[in-house]
Amino acid sequence: QQLPMKSHIAVLPSPGIGHVTPLLELSKLLVTHHQCHVTFLNVTTESSAAQNNLLHSPTLPPNLHVVDLPPVDLSTMVNDQTTIVARLSVNLRETLRPLNTILSQLPDKPQALIIDMFGTHVFDTILENIPIFTFFTASAHLLAFSLFLPQLDRDVAGEFVDLPNPVQVPGCKPIRTEDLMDQVRNRKIDEYKWYLYHVSRMTMSTGILLNTWQDLEPVTLKALSEHSFYRSINTPPLYPIGPLIKETESLTENEPECLAWLDNQPAGSVLFVTFGSGGVLSSEQQNELAWGLELSGVRFVWVVRVPNDASAFAAFFNAGGDDDATSYLPEGFVSRTRERGLVVRSWAPQVAILRHASTGAFVSHCGWNSTLESVANGVPVIAWPLYAEQRMNGTTVEEDVGVGVRVRAKSTEKGVVGREEIERVVRMVMEGEEGKEMKRRARELKETAAKSLSVGGPSYEMRAAMANVCLFATKKQCTKKPV
Ligand code: UDP
Repeated sequence: QQLPMKSHIAVLPSPGIGHVTPLLELSKLLVTHHQCHVTFLNVTTESSAAQNNLLHSPTLPPNLHVVDLPPVDLSTMVNDQTTIVARLSVNLRETLRPLNTILSQLPDKPQALIIDMFGTHVFDTILENIPIFTFFTASAHLLAFSLFLPQLDRDVAGEFVDLPNPVQVPGCKPIRTEDLMDQVRNRKIDEYKWYLYHVSRMTMSTGILLNTWQDLEPVTLKALSEHSFYRSINTPPLYPIGPLIKETESLTENEPECLAWLDNQPAGSVLFVTFGSGGVLSSEQQNELAWGLELSGVRFVWVVRVPNDASAFAAFFNAGGDDDATSYLPEGFVSRTRERGLVVRSWAPQVAILRHASTGAFVSHCGWNSTLESVANGVPVIAWPLYAEQRMNGTTVEEDVGVGVRVRAKSTEKGVVGREEIERVVRMVMEGEEGKEMKRRARELKETAAKSLSVGGPSYEMRAAMANVCLFATKKQCTKKPV
């Protein structure tokens, strides 16, 4: 069915580059391919330098309007100990108290709203009866687990991490308890309660958008569409529309230098190392990584941050800050590796680097966007999960998709991966036969990703179908009850 006119869609991501990026990419595509007009509501309070660059880029298409929502004072509600989901949820709840006024003051009324998985308060507050889609910005496997979580919560008495066996998510590969996401590892704390709150409400959505595609997660997507459990909880229609990754990278001041350096390296010879928007290593771990890179002898671009011994996501709410961490590296490291390595402060243009012909592999924390960006560019992954659901993603990359290997600390190393192990894994992926096979598989997936996104491909068609629902949804279609 052809869209007869422009529909106006409001898009509301939670703060954080990992949420803003895919929702912004979707918005751009809705504007350029599906005749939509998008108002992108930006929750500014926790914003970062990188998020601001992205949202205020001069290259955004006309018909995509970014509206910065007034910041709210959260000082009495969160503190330094408040963890990621709790902090995002409180921020969104407070910022969106005037949501109906915000929407009514837009030049024209939105016909649909797209939120992400931490914006589910809006199901209670919104007065307009319009379709509300949830964009689940993580893997389909995590969605399946999350839809199952309310039942698990009712059935299991103690902590999930103490279960004797892996968690059997209906129709999906079981999840080892050591891979369970941080948010469900302690059921007594707010982080768990907030996560459960949001995922229990996702079935109220008109539809759930997924940043994945058939060839990346075939088993899980089949389970979600066919297994009776998901029907029994009234799972709304699912729209796999991925991989939606940053199409262009608007470079900040020093970033062209990094790409110019890559231009001078042989094809496939450079290892790119960065740990997402928030990831930081302990000082001991950062030291071992430096030695591992040096011993391996490979070329590298390494995004270095000030180490933190207490939190693996210490940079999460300050992505793209300008800290200088070089003084935390082993003495003489920068000068000894100058000929073959580039140390970058805090943030690098990841997608441009992964797309560059000189890049041969990626040491990644395996946030879902980073995983997609690597695979969609045919780059194998050395998976180094740090927080949230990244252990699950690291296992997927290694065991199910075959595009990477996961680094693991030896039991004697107290959670710190030693330099010899890092050297071994880096050589294996950059120089070994295993690495060649991972690269072959990554290239194969790169092709299927491009096909899925091209006009007429499954991800394209799913997006078009979703855009149609925005325009033609009836009142009845928009009203869903929670599980
Ligand atoms: N990113 C970047 N440069 C960096 C680190 C991260 O551009 O040095 C971007 C990366 O391309 C990705 C996002 O930040 O789009 C991180 O999202 P992801 O889901 O991988 O992890 P999160 O930061 O949410 O843990």
